[in-house]
Amino acid sequence: MKKTTQFKNHYIAIIGGSISGSEAANVLAQNGFRVVVFDMNKLPYGKIEDGLPNWHVNLRDRQIAEIDSKLDQENIRFVPCVKIGNDIDFIDLVNNWGFSAIILANGAWQDRTLQIPSTEKFIDRDIIYQNSFINWFNHKHEHDYFGKNYFIKNNTVVIGGGLASLDVIKVVMIELVKKQLYLKKGIDIDLFTLEKEGILDILQKNNTTLNELGIKKATLVYRRTANDMPLKSPKDERIESVEKAKLVSEKLLNKYVEKYQFNFIPLSIPVKLSEKNGKLSGLILQNVEIINGNVVPIENSFNKVICEMLISSIGSIPEKIEGLNYTNSSLKMRDERDYHVYGFENVFAIGNAVTGRGNIQESKQHGKQMTEIIIDKHLTEDAFEKWLTNHNNQIKSKVKKQLNSIIEQIKIQEIKSEEITQEILNKTAAIHKKLNYTTYKNWIFKNTPIRLEDILKNKDDCKCS
Ligand SMILES: Cc1cc2nc3c(=O)[nH]c(=O)nc-3n(C[C@H](O)[C@H](O)[C@H](O)COP(=O)(O)OP(=O)(O)OC[C@H]3O[C@@H](n4cnc5c(N)ncnc54)[C@H](O)[C@@H]3O)c2cc1C
Repeated sequence: MKKTTQFKNHYIAIIGGSISGSEAANVLAQNGFRVVVFDMNKLPYGKIEDGLPNWHVNLRDRQIAEIDSKLDQENIRFVPCVKIGNDIDFIDLVNNWGFSAIILANGAWQDRTLQIPSTEKFIDRDIIYQNSFINWFNHKHEHDYFGKNYFIKNNTVVIGGGLASLDVIKVVMIELVKKQLYLKKGIDIDLFTLEKEGILDILQKNNTTLNELGIKKATLVYRRTANDMPLKSPKDERIESVEKAKLVSEKLLNKYVEKYQFNFIPLSIPVKLSEKNGKLSGLILQNVEIINGNVVPIENSFNKVICEMLISSIGSIPEKIEGLNYTNSSLKMRDERDYHVYGFENVFAIGNAVTGRGNIQESKQHGKQMTEIIIDKHLTEDAFEKWLTNHNNQIKSKVKKQLNSIIEQIKIQEIKSEEITQEILNKTAAIHKKLNYTTYKNWIFKNTPIRLEDILKNKDDCKCS
């Protein structure tokens, strides 16, 4: 692809400014395109801010710095606090804003629904979904946190098997031990130390046990086996590499089980809840077997576990936006399944929004590769001329319908691409004005929440002085 310093005609909207959205914006900006990045939140960091538990300080800060450097460019306008589908109708964005292409980089923010009967009455009390759980964990220390609050209980069961489910069960054990160490022994240990050193070591160092602290271990329930967990990616697709990665995954899980003191139950799926006095008390698990790679329930083979709280970490799916098509839980794509959205000539999707899963590296790569293809195949000058003609025709037919028969013959002016650009600038400037947004840097500075590690550091500094 050739780089240019002049702006190209296409003006592109990106929905979501995190890992994949900022990557796409950067590739487009570097190739001379102008871009508006909409994000529903104040900050464009997506799962990096609200998904990764906050002990991943270095990873978070590195990724945030990278997103900032990608978005803070002359030909990129960041527009925060705008949820497409709520604040701006998606079809309105496609038809009336003047963008010649739209890229969805909105990730996967809706938790997959647990398929167990009668969960509703326990939701957000004894049954919690991962996205809101980690959001609470990451932000509860902020003075202006007004989100949901959770009280973690003994005998919590986490359902899941990916990297995120391990983070979830770590949060459970860390929170329980932190609280009980303080209440029962007066020992105040921060979560960063608990995470780094592990619960077993901290208990031993402080001459205590889970039993003495009154803690009952949490349990991770997975429908496959430990070596099926995606904890280690194979270095290539050869059978030997895949097998090696599986063994490493199993070893890693066993290490986690010991270090963070939780139970692991493989080859099981949750099928029924039990309750006592209106509270969740147990969970019936059905045993399964893996046949040709598929999870197959074994008839009449069940186990019961004590379960006072259940956290579902079975994956996230894209939140549906009205106007787009979905098959089951995935965004419906055209033949070019990797990026081209069904039903639209100029709407594309990248990152978790398409893949529904994956990690930072995969989302970044997908964002970059797909955007390069989109530029080469769909953002040519010919494509722009075609889009402009269509856009003008649409406007003409709309206006014509509104005019009465006497003045029907008046020539309707063609809209020029500069006018379209100006209109986009005006509309986004109006949103910025409402938000009191001046520059990207100022906005980020003003809205980055206080970090827990800084609070703890200040506390330590105060103690010393
Ligand atoms: C608990 C947990 C732990 C993880 N641990 C790791 C790890 O250790 N290593 C790793 O590599 N990966 C990890 N991941 C995965 C990683 O965070 C994601 O794969 C990656 O961040 C996805 O990037 P994305 O840009 O595709 O989506 P997201 O980060 O989800 O970004 C989507 C953006 O779109 C915005 N948005 C959504 N809907 C709208 C809308 N309608 N209008 C406007 N804006 C919208 C959101 O606000 C967000 O900023 C973890 C994920 C979780 C949940």
